[in-house]
Amino acid sequence: MAIGISAPRTERPPTVRELLATGEQSFSFEFFAPKTEKGERTLWDALRRIEAVSPTFVSVTYGAGGSSREGTVRNTERIATETTLTPVAHLTAVNHSRAELRNVIGQYANAGIKNVLAIRGDPPGDPMGEWVKHPQGLDYAAELVELIKESGDFCVGVAAFPEMHPRSADWDTDVRHFVNKCRAGADYAITQMFFRAEDYLRLRDSAVAAGCQTPIIPEIMPVTNVKQIERFAQLSNATIPREMADRLRAVEDDPAAVRSVGIECATELCARLLAEGVPGLHFITLNHSTATLEIHENLGLHDRS
Ligand code: FAD
Repeated sequence: MAIGISAPRTERPPTVRELLATGEQSFSFEFFAPKTEKGERTLWDALRRIEAVSPTFVSVTYGAGGSSREGTVRNTERIATETTLTPVAHLTAVNHSRAELRNVIGQYANAGIKNVLAIRGDPPGDPMGEWVKHPQGLDYAAELVELIKESGDFCVGVAAFPEMHPRSADWDTDVRHFVNKCRAGADYAITQMFFRAEDYLRLRDSAVAAGCQTPIIPEIMPVTNVKQIERFAQLSNATIPREMADRLRAVEDDPAAVRSVGIECATELCARLLAEGVPGLHFITLNHSTATLEIHENLGLHDRS
């Protein structure tokens, strides 16, 4: 289908489990639900560009409050019905009772969405603040996996942390909790962004050593300006390797050169991960498609579309 043309879809979109089972490495993209009409136009412009390269699936994050949460449901439903894309809707346990979670899961089911990414979430306003569960809610993502699975025939993904979840006391404890989350019924996992392939490989090896075969899809975020170096480290706990920071800082007065070095570094990381046999790559787009599409093209994937 050409960009910008939409038609109602009648067939059931495949699940991520089915898509991964083909053995072909997946290429997928993450968007967030915007809060304004302008933001919504930007999102749909990016979605239509991404649609043209036939990604394996696209995901839409779940925000901290009312309008953005409604935006997740509405936009994911539109993706399911008006595009050729396979949508994955994120869902978090933040400030939701079990009944409210069931209600959102029901809305996803009614919209024909079969793929849900089950995320615990962070306290709104302060990601490292104390986690306080809703009085009738959930404490951990594993419980959300179970709730979604018992609510219908869903394919459920979870989050994974190549540099350990910042709240975890140590690596072994973090891996144990991750493996338990997979055993609760997760079909696949998507990682937090990271910049060193070794961090991903260590997590994959640790999970396999613990008997967990759940496919772990690496999440990729190109650094396109120097300010992001510190910001990403704070937000995601992701370490930017010294060599990469030096390459970016060497051209910091030239924004176009910084962007191009960032895309080059992300392309190198993706190529290494693909060679290591990852199940796929999931790109954070921040609702702008150009940088991620450049990486996609650098990797020779446009030819596959
Ligand atoms: P959990 O798996 O519940 O883990 C949280 C912490 O609790 C970890 O330290 C874990 O080791 C520990 N833990 C787990 N089980 C137990 C147990 N039984 N006993 C004791 N400790 C335990 N945030 C959003 O708000 N919206 C989104 O859409 C969103 N999408 C994301 C997508 C991806 C791919 C990733 C990687 C993150 C996303 N996040 C999102 C961020 C996420 O909410 C935070 O990273 C959050 O802190 C962790 O969520 P989780 O699902 O991994 O939680």
